[in-house]
Amino acid sequence: MGMKHALVTGGAGFIGFHLSRRLLMQGWRVTCVDDLSTGSVDNAQTLVSRYPNNYVWHNADIREDLCWLEERYEVVYNLASPASPMRYVDCPIKTIESNVVGVANVLEIAQRDSAILVQASTSEVYGDPTEHPQSERYWGNVNPVGQRSCYDEGKRAAEAMVSAYRHERGVEGRVVRIFNTYGPRMRLDDGRVVCSFIRNALDGVPLRIHGNGGQTRSFCYVDDTVRALVLAGDPVIDWPEVVNVGNPHEISIRRLAAEVLRLVGGAPDSVEYEPAPIADDPRRRCPDIRLAKEVLGWMPKVGLREGLVETLEYYMSCADVNWRKDANELE
Ligand code: NAD
Ligand code: UDP
Repeated sequence: MGMKHALVTGGAGFIGFHLSRRLLMQGWRVTCVDDLSTGSVDNAQTLVSRYPNNYVWHNADIREDLCWLEERYEVVYNLASPASPMRYVDCPIKTIESNVVGVANVLEIAQRDSAILVQASTSEVYGDPTEHPQSERYWGNVNPVGQRSCYDEGKRAAEAMVSAYRHERGVEGRVVRIFNTYGPRMRLDDGRVVCSFIRNALDGVPLRIHGNGGQTRSFCYVDDTVRALVLAGDPVIDWPEVVNVGNPHEISIRRLAAEVLRLVGGAPDSVEYEPAPIADDPRRRCPDIRLAKEVLGWMPKVGLREGLVETLEYYMSCADVNWRKDANELE
């Protein structure tokens, strides 16, 4: 039997890079479709140079028809979408289109190839949740016309599209509701909280806390998230239609700031409070992962401190040089 082949849309992004690398290490071939809008060419090039025979990257937008992809895939991972609030509020039309039009284009490929379709959904489908923690049975609390709706409603519609293709065309769609995931290779200018805090701490400028910092999130290290995504692509596994994937260790943003400052070595009061720049910031978020535990035997293994150390080490290894260069340029 030949090698297994996965299509990974958004494969030059943060999670897409780690997922692709894991599949390649397990002997898969991987085809990446990514328009590099929020991803990085370095991610794609790193994999091209390490796996020249088994990895290929196409610079393309999933909002356009994808039938030019002529090879056959066993699994199709759909990760292509702007993902950081600071990014998607600047391109709301692209964001909703990537999720509604894009997912349909990707589902057409999955149908053509009788492939498993793994859809990267999000805890944002729960909006500002009124139930806590959030289980897969909760329907969410989303403002359909708010600043975040391009993403939240886009991802909800994408889940509905996966469900529609399942019922009408028999496509095996598997939805993974990913909760806040962090780790090496998240772009420093991505805007999401872990990298923004680390960047400011390394720059020696105050961390900017939105609101009073009492809002919570539950942060999952990328290797744990990727392990769940690999399971989602396994045909042997009986995947429930929708599964939460995240780390249930809930922490306030104020405490996260303190944790980052402690690790980087900044003064513990090096923070500034500012009004949240984006409306409808969810106040609490924590996954109920009983389903993943019971049905898939999956649970996160990497604690927050350990994961932050790994992430920080990565940024230090590449940022050191660049920051000195930037500083020199200013002189
Ligand atoms: P990311 O921004 O690093 O990756 C997204 C990738 O998709 C980028 O490489 C970008 O260039 C590409 N892309 C965007 N729109 C595209 C389009 N129309 N056509 C082709 N490529 C396109 O973000 P990430 O954190 O790696 O997120 C990956 C997926 O996981 C996204 O679908 C996101 O919604 C989902 N997710 C992530 C998190 C998280 O905390 N990281 C949480 C929930 C869900
Ligand atoms: N946040 C913050 N400072 C930052 C970036 C984010 O206080 O520099 C807050 C943000 O308001 C939210 C939380 O951190 O309450 C997580 O934000 P992020 O953008 O990482 O992801 P979200 O979970 O909101 O999609």
